[in-house]
Amino acid sequence: MTFTGGCRCGAARYELAVDTLTAIYCCHCTDCQRWSGSAFSEQAVVPDTAISATGPIVEFTITNESGALSHQRACGVCHNRLWNTNSSRPGIAVVRAGTLDHNRTLEPRVHIWVKSKQPWVMIAEGVPCFEESAPVAEFAAILSR
Ligand SMILES: [Zn+2]
Ligand SMILES: [Zn+2]
Repeated sequence: MTFTGGCRCGAARYELAVDTLTAIYCCHCTDCQRWSGSAFSEQAVVPDTAISATGPIVEFTITNESGALSHQRACGVCHNRLWNTNSSRPGIAVVRAGTLDHNRTLEPRVHIWVKSKQPWVMIAEGVPCFEESAPVAEFAAILSR
């Protein structure tokens, strides 16, 4: 199956060659709040080789506090961020889930950094939450369910 998405202006489009798209998480950290200009970020985790894009994709790199390099891809026209990879997680891409065409069907599997969650955000019962970032192995296990 192929999942499709794109930026707000429509110039940049992408396809995800994956069978299912269930590795969805929300991050309520203050960086995500600031960067998204919203209450939290919603992300889809896919193999980086699954992404093919068309249009004016631009790339910029920021260095995280840990020293890891975060390679961000965005539309060159409207600067909508679309996905990123990170030097600390080779082979993995994190797609801004709200840019997916079918984003209404996505169900977040886990919420992280809920200690900085906006108080009005209600998380569905039974969905795992972590006060800060989740341990890598546990996070991966939840997302692969
Ligand atoms: Zn655009
Ligand atoms: Zn975050």
